[in-house]
Amino acid sequence: MATVVECPTCGTLVEWQEASRWRPFCSERCKLIDLGDWAAERHRIAGEPADELAADTPPPPKPY
Ligand SMILES: [Zn+2]
Repeated sequence: MATVVECPTCGTLVEWQEASRWRPFCSERCKLIDLGDWAAERHRIAGEPADELAADTPPPPKPY
C-alpha cells in the first residue's frame, strides 16, 4: 500500500516511492516552481531595510 502525498505546487497526488523522483513534487517542473517561489520570497525579505537588525545578530540557520 503506497503512501500518497499531494504535490505542494499543483496538488497532484504523488506516490511516495523511489520511482517518484521529484517527490513530494509530481515533477521537476513543480519542484523548480516551488523553489523559485521560495527564493523570490527570500530575496524580497533580504531586500528590505535592515535597520532593526543588530550588528551582532547571528546569521539565520540554513534552511536545510
Ligand atoms: Zn505538481
